[in-house]
Amino acid sequence: MRGEEVPAPGVGRSRKKAGYGLSAGRRQIRRLGLSFIPGLVWLGFLVLGYQLLSRHSDWAEVYSRYIRAWLIRPLVWLNSLLPFSLTELLLLPAALILLCLLLRLLFSWLAPAGRRVIRALRSLRALYILLIIAMSLYLLFHGYNFLRQPLSESLDLPVQAQSSQTLYDVCVLLEQHAAALREQLPEDQDGVFALDTSETQAQLFKRANLGYEAAAQTISILSGPTVLAKGVWLSHWWSYTGTTGMFMPLLAEANVNTDVQPDEELFTILHEMAHVHGIAREDEANFVAFLTGIDHPDPDFQYAAYLSALIHGSNSLYKYDKDLWQQLWEQIPDSLQRDIQARNVYWDQFEGPVQTQTQKTNDSFLKANRQESGIHSYGQMIDLVISYYQKQGVIDLG
Ligand SMILES: [Zn+2]
Repeated sequence: MRGEEVPAPGVGRSRKKAGYGLSAGRRQIRRLGLSFIPGLVWLGFLVLGYQLLSRHSDWAEVYSRYIRAWLIRPLVWLNSLLPFSLTELLLLPAALILLCLLLRLLFSWLAPAGRRVIRALRSLRALYILLIIAMSLYLLFHGYNFLRQPLSESLDLPVQAQSSQTLYDVCVLLEQHAAALREQLPEDQDGVFALDTSETQAQLFKRANLGYEAAAQTISILSGPTVLAKGVWLSHWWSYTGTTGMFMPLLAEANVNTDVQPDEELFTILHEMAHVHGIAREDEANFVAFLTGIDHPDPDFQYAAYLSALIHGSNSLYKYDKDLWQQLWEQIPDSLQRDIQARNVYWDQFEGPVQTQTQKTNDSFLKANRQESGIHSYGQMIDLVISYYQKQGVIDLG
């Protein structure tokens, strides 16, 4: 009597268990599947928001000025308490977590058949939640800002085609301002503009806010919380990618390459702060850096603003009228030429495939965000500078 016909108690239980397990498994899969729905609804809401704002730039303007400006405040405040770059600190752990989640998803297919789908769904859900958080923060803090009214409209600075002569006149004006300021600034042993060595990086980043406070007196959209830009430890290595700064929308953090020439660093601080203040387009962030630089009470920031605008203007002039460019270059004083040359020498050492590839990626990113001219939009800030001086009555209407 082996009892083959009589199921052993354990077998019976296991069959029952298997049946119970199957329906419980199905219920679990169903529950996991349903847990994806709120995220999908939220994503739909975000996409709908993007579609609506892309059709109504005035709505996007209201969102940026009155909703986003307050949403981002707690993050900006939290960031101002930390003197180091959170972006840099969290980048590696974030990449590792992402890699672990991807591996978990991959290995879930090695689990027993009954658990395979559940494990895969759980891994997928973790990735899905991270993606939704990242997408939400990106769109709410940066992506929607690309849909705002152009600054030329909101600041009433119409941009129009200009003659080379007008561009030349503006360059001369910028050069005169820069040259006058340069005389009072410190130099290094090579005669190149240097920062005040008694000031720490943290003090410098804090001082940058004075430019925004001054500019906000007349341009209300530049008012906002105190922003603490951050120097990046890996700045020198960033230069291999041609990156002078980076706004991290997920943390509302302005990151700055501190290895570049000092005048470029000062201008970059103001540029990255413009992104925190809700100015997303690159040419407009450059223009805001110019405005907040020339309104800054200290000559070093002012000089950085005039010199950077002059470099942009001079590059445009070179493209359209080489004779006028030559004429301009001949009157630029030696001190300014040394500073411009120092920038060129600095960047020459980093030229290579990494920089080319990063520039291409940046170009694609900008085009994806409706900046059709890609990286060339950096130079368009000069059109706004021309319009600004025309409105001031400093130069003739072209
Ligand atoms: Zn930027």
